Amino acid sequence: MHEYSVVSSLIDLCEAHAKKHHATKIERVVVSIGERCAMDKQLFVSAFETFKEELDLCKDAILDIVEEKVELTCLECGHVFVPSNFDYGACEKCRGKVRISKGTEMTLLSLEMV
Ligand SMILES: [Zn+2]
Repeated sequence: MHEYSVVSSLIDLCEAHAKKHHATKIERVVVSIGERCAMDKQLFVSAFETFKEELDLCKDAILDIVEEKVELTCLECGHVFVPSNFDYGACEKCRGKVRISKGTEMTLLSLEMV
């Protein structure tokens, strides 16, 4: 499952950060999940619960999920905006072509360690 591989690399990332900072325990993991990243939040949470048990370092970690809104960038005029509806087709200023510049990824925002 997609969620499992994402969580697996998230845990690796947490472990790497903890080692770098000589932490012995991770208390909180904050991630942002984009509106459009095609991730099932429930699955993500249960995958995290499964994976964290395998690692002493983060078995008591709390997972916080922040939902990230979709943000669009216009390819014509460079205008960056959050679409007010699900019309991702055109720039609100010049009606030019846009690309989704935010809201399609899972990002590790912060870690609380001791
Ligand atoms: Zn534009």
